[in-house]
Amino acid sequence: MSREAIQPGATLGVMGGGQLGRMFVHAAQRMGYFTAVLDPDASSPAGKVSHHHIQADYLDDGGLAQLAACSAAITTEFENVPAPALRTLAAMRPVAPGAEAVAIAQDRAQEKAHFTRCGVACAPYAVIETQQQLAAVGDGLLPGILKTTRLGYDGKGQQRVKTRAELAAAWDSLRQVPCVLEQMLPLAAECSVIVARGADGSLVNLPPQLNLHREGILAVTEVYEGNMPAERASAAVAATKSIAEGLGYVGVLCVEFFVLADGSLVVNEMAPRPHNSGHYSMDACDVSQFELQVRTLAGLPLTQPRQHSAAVMLNLLGDLWFAQGGAERTPAWSEVLRLPGTHLHLYGKHSARKGRKMGHLNITAASAAQARATALQAAALLGIQAF
Ligand code: ATP
Ligand code: MG
Repeated sequence: MSREAIQPGATLGVMGGGQLGRMFVHAAQRMGYFTAVLDPDASSPAGKVSHHHIQADYLDDGGLAQLAACSAAITTEFENVPAPALRTLAAMRPVAPGAEAVAIAQDRAQEKAHFTRCGVACAPYAVIETQQQLAAVGDGLLPGILKTTRLGYDGKGQQRVKTRAELAAAWDSLRQVPCVLEQMLPLAAECSVIVARGADGSLVNLPPQLNLHREGILAVTEVYEGNMPAERASAAVAATKSIAEGLGYVGVLCVEFFVLADGSLVVNEMAPRPHNSGHYSMDACDVSQFELQVRTLAGLPLTQPRQHSAAVMLNLLGDLWFAQGGAERTPAWSEVLRLPGTHLHLYGKHSARKGRKMGHLNITAASAAQARATALQAAALLGIQAF
C-alpha cells in the first residue's frame, strides 16, 4: 500500500516528547518539515524544540484531534503510547508504525508469539497470569528473570529469581500483574539490528550493533567492520527483516538479540521506533535512524544507509553528573571534546538522576581501533567504567 509522498513544508506529528522524539524533530526540521509533538509534560525534550507542542494526555481526545489537525502524518517515539490512541489517530491521518504492530511490541507475551511465528528463537519462557500458571512453571526456567508483560523499560519491571520461593515473592511484589518468566541465559554478548520499512514494502537496515548493558541499561554500542562474525551479522539482519515483514511494519524497528556461548542468536525484544543502540548512526552513517523514520513516515524513498566511520556510542546517564561523595558536577565536556571525532548529544533534561538517560557521546574514527581508543579515553574522563 503506497501513498503519495508528504513533501517538505508539511507538518509531521509525533506521539511522545522524549529524547527520541527530539532527535526525530531535529531530523524532520533539517529536511524542511514542520513538527508537532504531543506530550503531557510542559518541558519535554522534544516539545521544547518542536514548532508545535500539544500538551495533553496521550488518551485525551481533544489533544489527539489537535495533533491530527496540524499533522500530515503521525509517528510515535515511545513504546508505551497507548495503542487505542494510535487507532484514534489512524482514523484521521496516516500513522506509522501502525497500532497493531505497536500493540504487539508492548506486550512481551504477544511479542514472543510473533517471534516464534517468524521462526526466530527466543529464550525459553512461561506466561504467568494466574496462581495455576505460577505453580506449573517448569524448574528448567530457574534461575530466571520475571518481567512484567507490559510497561517495562531500562530494566524496570524486572526481577531476577533463583528459586520458586523467590519467584512467588517477586510476582507478589509486582502485584501479580501479567508477567513472563524467562530462563536466565548465559550471555556471551548482545546485539541489535535496526531496519526501516516503507509503506511500499521496501526494506533497508543499519549495520548490526554490538551492545553492552550494565544493570539492565544500555551502556556502550560499538559498530564497525568485524564487531561480530559476518555470519552472525547476516543472521541477525535476516531475522530482523522477517520480524518486520511479518508485522507488515511501516517505520523504524529495532530488534535486540542475545548471543549465546556457541555464537547462536536468541531474540530478546523489539522496539517499534528508533533505538538507543542506533544513535551512532547520527554521526557514522550517511542516513541516520531518525532520517529513516522521517522518510518512512513521509513516504519518501529509502536507500540502504552506508556507514562511513567506525563508531562507538557511550550513553551518558545521570550518574555522571554526581561526584564520588554525591555532590553535583558538570561532566568534563571540554576535555572530552578535545579528543578527535567526539560528538556530544544532550537531550535538554533539566535535572540529572541516577540511571536517567541525559545524552550520548558518539565517537567516530577511520578505524575500529582508533574509535575504541578514543572512546576509552572519553570514558575515563567522564567516569564511565572501561569496556
Ligand atoms: P530496554 O528498554 O532498555 O531495552 P527492558 O527493560 O525492556 O530494557 P530487557 O531488554 O528485557 O529489558 O532486559 C534488559 C537487559 O537485561 C538485557 O539487555 C540483558 O542484558 C538482561 N537480560 C534480560 N533478559 C535476560 C535473559 N533471559 N537472560 C540473560 N540476561 C537477560
Ligand atoms: Mg531491552
